[in-house]
Amino acid sequence: MKAEIICVGTELLMGQIVNTNAQFLAAQLAPLGVDVYYQSVVGDNPGRLKEAVSVALNRSDVVLFSGGLGPTEDDLTKETVAEAMGLDLVLHEQEWQKIQAYFTARGRVAAPNNQKQAMFPGSHCTILPNPNGTAPGCIFEKGGKAAILMPGPPRELRPMFIDHVAPYLQSRSGHRLYTRMLRIFGMGESDVEYALRDLIHEQSNPTLATYCEVGEVKLRITAACQTEQEGRALLSPILSKVKQRLGDVIYSEEDEELAAVCHRLLIDKGLTLSCAESCTGGLLSSAFVDLAGSSAYFMEGDVTYANEAKMGSLGVRAETLERFTAVSDKTAREMAAGMRRKAGTDLALATTGYAGPDGEQVGLVYVALAGDDGVQVKELHLSGDRNRIRRLAVLNALDLLYRKLCTK
Ligand code: ATP
Ligand code: MG
Repeated sequence: MKAEIICVGTELLMGQIVNTNAQFLAAQLAPLGVDVYYQSVVGDNPGRLKEAVSVALNRSDVVLFSGGLGPTEDDLTKETVAEAMGLDLVLHEQEWQKIQAYFTARGRVAAPNNQKQAMFPGSHCTILPNPNGTAPGCIFEKGGKAAILMPGPPRELRPMFIDHVAPYLQSRSGHRLYTRMLRIFGMGESDVEYALRDLIHEQSNPTLATYCEVGEVKLRITAACQTEQEGRALLSPILSKVKQRLGDVIYSEEDEELAAVCHRLLIDKGLTLSCAESCTGGLLSSAFVDLAGSSAYFMEGDVTYANEAKMGSLGVRAETLERFTAVSDKTAREMAAGMRRKAGTDLALATTGYAGPDGEQVGLVYVALAGDDGVQVKELHLSGDRNRIRRLAVLNALDLLYRKLCTK
């Protein structure tokens, strides 16, 4: 099945918002066996939208739209697509009542122009409910072609896609893919590829593909199958081979973030944590606090940027700072130990380093982990801009913690 994605919105075209819907849809379509051949962005302009729609309907079996389903004059995706497919819109009484009820439930009254959102073709149309907003989505089917219209806000589009559009596409394509996303830290993409080169190049089902992200590698294994059970069976021997070859650099087989894996392990093992941060300036603490439920183990995070703060809050010795400087194995060690003592936690992480861009030692970072058996320190030589170095420092600190938690 050939598909394409059209995202409608002048804000997208002007670069005011990032087109996360296109990325989400493309990633979701692959496992459904739908081939995406084109993606485009069109402003809120009837003429140009009409042109894009007719080109798309000509060359693709399915066209997915995001945005332009709202009540205002410049929201014209539905009107334009209906016109291109030769369908007339009529007021759908039931949908109009639902929209009015949505407003009433929020103590408001639907404006007359909201009626626009209850206009649909009398035939060739399936309406998709939108529990998270007022604009329902819809699927128009005619002459073997399908247009799927979804609202722009991601919190409306994503559930609509997963609950209604994915099942529709799966029934239409008649086949499915079963996918596993492995996440790897501590091995570069080319090393991963080299270790798996025969599997990557000689396998046709399942297929393997690597993706690179800041500091880590994702490995996606996909099996074409009829049922999930068959997919699982196809994947299982390959998964074993991959695990055997890559070993403990795989930290998740379920596409989890490193912080989320640590979060789960800390909760499971009933251990508490604190963080003392210099160059990461709160990013490390934030990686935990971002996750709901972190209050079960996260006790304290200190940003000790100046030497005075390192001494005053964490008890780092003046002599250590003078002799070895703030960016040193010794300082990282004292920061982690001091943090653990002060917060009274089972474990404490610390980061200190040069994030740049100025200075001779940019990228030199130490991450430390204090526990009941002493302090471990890792010296890192990172590259990239300030943000990348700070992000990599966080990932390395998380990795240190992850490895410790695996042995606890
Ligand atoms: P509304 O009823 O909110 O107007 P709509 O279906 O008309 O919904 P748009 O007006 O196109 O959608 O977009 C509404 C908001 O949704 C945008 O301001 C933006 O925040 C978000 N949005 C739209 N398109 C995208 C996209 N492709 N990726 C990410 N966010 C998007
Ligand atoms: Mg709108």
